Amino acid sequence: MLPLWTGNEAGRLVRIGIFGGTFDPIHVGHLAAAVNAKAGAHLDKVLMVVANIPWQKEGLRKVQPASERLALVEAAVSGVEGLEASDIEIQRGGKSYTIDTVLEIKKLFPDDDLFLIIGADVAYELDTWDRVDDLADLVTLVIVNRPGSVRPDNLGERWNYLEVEVPSLDISSTDLRARAIEGRPLDYLIPSAAIRYIREHNLYGPRET
Ligand code: ATP
Ligand code: MG
Repeated sequence: MLPLWTGNEAGRLVRIGIFGGTFDPIHVGHLAAAVNAKAGAHLDKVLMVVANIPWQKEGLRKVQPASERLALVEAAVSGVEGLEASDIEIQRGGKSYTIDTVLEIKKLFPDDDLFLIIGADVAYELDTWDRVDDLADLVTLVIVNRPGSVRPDNLGERWNYLEVEVPSLDISSTDLRARAIEGRPLDYLIPSAAIRYIREHNLYGPRET
């Protein structure tokens, strides 16, 4: 039986947004981008897909365990209509390649339309992604603006894409990790339920670096 979230009303194609990230930690920049991409691209759902091993970041810095990052995303989206935390990459294990995630979702729901949400900064990295031509055949990109990055104007022929204007929030996980280490406030930059989880589980503190 199909999970409820693929419910197809009156034969209409279901439009699924896939928003991948390390989410180390998730912040309101991600969440505002997700809900506004959902509205702007008329998506039915946005799956917040937590990377198991983000191969781009591997070896560069310590990344919190995937289970903790997933718990933060779950806390952050709890009660928010249409946003779901997804552990699909954690279940698969190993390095997380978006193409594998998209193929898995496509196999489960072949009739659904898949949209891959990315910030303008990530649009520059697409050429380095694994099996990028296959990916381009399977998804429409939804590119959201992000302070500090102007999306490339030479995305190439291969992508179908649309752009969605989202609130410009100059927030990054990198800055939040620095804030946590230095004891500066996280409040209002991360949903309070996720901050509670960070405190209870002693994540991102000085001893965590
Ligand atoms: P880090 O600083 O560790 O790279 P990050 O804040 O960039 O963290 P990621 O998990 O790397 O967060 O990003 C996941 C996705 O969210 C990417 O597509 C990224 O472009 C997008 N994103 C992150 N922050 C914002 C923001 N403030 N506004 C719009 N998009 C964002
Ligand atoms: Mg990033």
